[in-house]
Amino acid sequence: SNNLDIASIRNDFPILNEIVNGKQLVYFDNAATTQKPRLVLDALSGYYEHYNANIHRGIHHLAEKATSAFEQSRRRLQAFLNAPLPEEIIFTYGTTDGINLVASSYGRTFLKAGDEVIISTMEHHSNIVPWQMLCEEKGCILKIIPINDEGELLMDEYEKLLTERTKFVSVVHVSNSLGTINPVKEIIAKAHAVGAKVLLDGAQASSHLHLDVQDLDCDFYSLSLHKIYGPTGMGILYGKKELLDAMPPYRGGGEMIKEVTFEKTTYNELPYKFEAGTPNIADVVAAKYALDYVDTLGKENIAAHEHKLLEYATEAVKDIEGLRIIGQAKEKVSVLSFVIDGIHHQDMGVLLDQQGIAVRTGHHCTQPLMRRFNITGTTRASFAVYNTTEEIDLLIQGLHKVKRMLG
Ligand code: PMP
Repeated sequence: SNNLDIASIRNDFPILNEIVNGKQLVYFDNAATTQKPRLVLDALSGYYEHYNANIHRGIHHLAEKATSAFEQSRRRLQAFLNAPLPEEIIFTYGTTDGINLVASSYGRTFLKAGDEVIISTMEHHSNIVPWQMLCEEKGCILKIIPINDEGELLMDEYEKLLTERTKFVSVVHVSNSLGTINPVKEIIAKAHAVGAKVLLDGAQASSHLHLDVQDLDCDFYSLSLHKIYGPTGMGILYGKKELLDAMPPYRGGGEMIKEVTFEKTTYNELPYKFEAGTPNIADVVAAKYALDYVDTLGKENIAAHEHKLLEYATEAVKDIEGLRIIGQAKEKVSVLSFVIDGIHHQDMGVLLDQQGIAVRTGHHCTQPLMRRFNITGTTRASFAVYNTTEEIDLLIQGLHKVKRMLG
């Protein structure tokens, strides 16, 4: 159905050769973090071996080389999101950090007592807690978009929540626990109609979907590179320039200033205003290679392969008695979350690991969502470009084995 050579792609990921409990690793925890292709690993060691230096201030050769690679990555991410300007790309430590930046800087400056913030039932804790902290501090009200049993947002209910008091809407683009792709363009348009700003949590969407912040017209977009075959501990926040310009700095320190005196400090321009201290240079530099890798394969090809895996797995688990899929949205990415009658997800995780199969178990940092489904957690298999139907067969065999052991 597509032109990817999966066997050759697997060769790009050295970690897939690991032996776990005597078995070749089957890695189905891609929604937590994806593995890294060789060229990303080489970019990391290449940076440290050949041009490690602090950026922006140095005039020596290495500093110039590091600065240039760092800023090239910014432009690469600008292109990845189709952002209008490079200074609208702020380097962060990841999705969580970007959301905290917006809740702290924008939220504390522009929201006041009685204002309303809307999130949804399926948010990751990182898109709940920063808003709760803000609401507590400022006296704002947090409202929650409910979902149906398939794990889709109830858009009628969302519309009812929107009023002239709504100042901010922050929702997940793609759910990490359910795989649901949310109708974010519609969510954004409706929020803008009442004058609210919108942030999208793009942690899961960014590896699966084509992104275009201008087409979406979102005000902020936060993502983590470690979910897109890139390094851990770095991500970006996209924000519209006029909003970022109006926002105060989030952290104080070096890099983010124009001039410091003990009486008064003036701040640097975008994007440096939000990048205090020495950034995660190596990982920023390597991020570009991860995106180049994704582009070489083609995001549509990756998505088509993942979709095939999801369909295959969804069909295959139907044979397992007592298994219920959590998250059956019409529009979803390659995340298969499920519960099995009488088997605790934690036991499932341990027994699959004994067979070399890595899945995620638990609440996936979405406790309110688990409560909505009256469960404490799920077993989640999430697929990436290097996964195969043969690996899914191993998972199905593994599930049968666990059922026999515990049944
Ligand atoms: N939101 C979603 C939907 C996620 O899946 C994750 C990562 N599990 C995050 C936010 C947080 O990302 P990070 O830990 O990289 O900040």
